[in-house]
Amino acid sequence: MKPLFLFCVIFTSFIPDNIFGLVGSYAKTSMVSIAFDDGNTNQYINALPILDSIGYKATFYIITKTLNESNSARMNRGQVFQLYADGQEIGSHGRNHLDLAFCWPWTIKYEIEQSKKDLHNIGIDANSFAYPDGGSNFLARYYVRQAGYANGRGTPRDGYTGVNTDQYNLCCKYVVNTTTVNEIKNWVDESKRKGYWLILLFHAVNKSESNYQFSCTRKTFKEICLYLKSKNAAVLPVGQALKRYFPASQPKNLN
Ligand SMILES: [Zn+2]
Repeated sequence: MKPLFLFCVIFTSFIPDNIFGLVGSYAKTSMVSIAFDDGNTNQYINALPILDSIGYKATFYIITKTLNESNSARMNRGQVFQLYADGQEIGSHGRNHLDLAFCWPWTIKYEIEQSKKDLHNIGIDANSFAYPDGGSNFLARYYVRQAGYANGRGTPRDGYTGVNTDQYNLCCKYVVNTTTVNEIKNWVDESKRKGYWLILLFHAVNKSESNYQFSCTRKTFKEICLYLKSKNAAVLPVGQALKRYFPASQPKNLN
């Protein structure tokens, strides 16, 4: 038994702390991030003015093939770059919004790498990735890391990110058209109480109620932001929140 024990000690001592993206440091505080998937134009029209009025920065995950299309339902490259220039975070949501859990390895690699290049080509350095439809596997998480992203977000719909969460499979909570403001207030309160990082995920933000499941109203969005403000919540884009929440997981040349 003793040689085996000694072998285990020596072997594990050579494994980096976060070899699989598992973060090992303890968060001193709770965090909140506001995230938007799919690059819908209504986010720019209806949510951005509210963010600006409160001074919040969020993370917008873009399906990068839409940067080359003229599709009024998606933000154009000028709007995306404007967000970035104003200090909002731009992340990748893949090039073609494919569920990477069901793709060939070369497709997974392409979707992750090419979308980063697409954003780079318009002057944006993307450090955050959101798996389309929440689909990821070991290979997808590996390629996200290899491509130079600092984090990847999955889409478990009822998850907080905690100190033991894989930084390449961050959890979030969906805001859908049946989610009430009171529910979200409870999430905010619980995350603060337990020291979690709450990532609130939005899709469409509409002027009025919609049958589209992945939507909320502008009024709901504003009430959430005002509640966060009233609670003095630490609201940061995903990339910045990652550094604050898991400081020990960052390379030494970052702060
Ligand atoms: Zn999506």
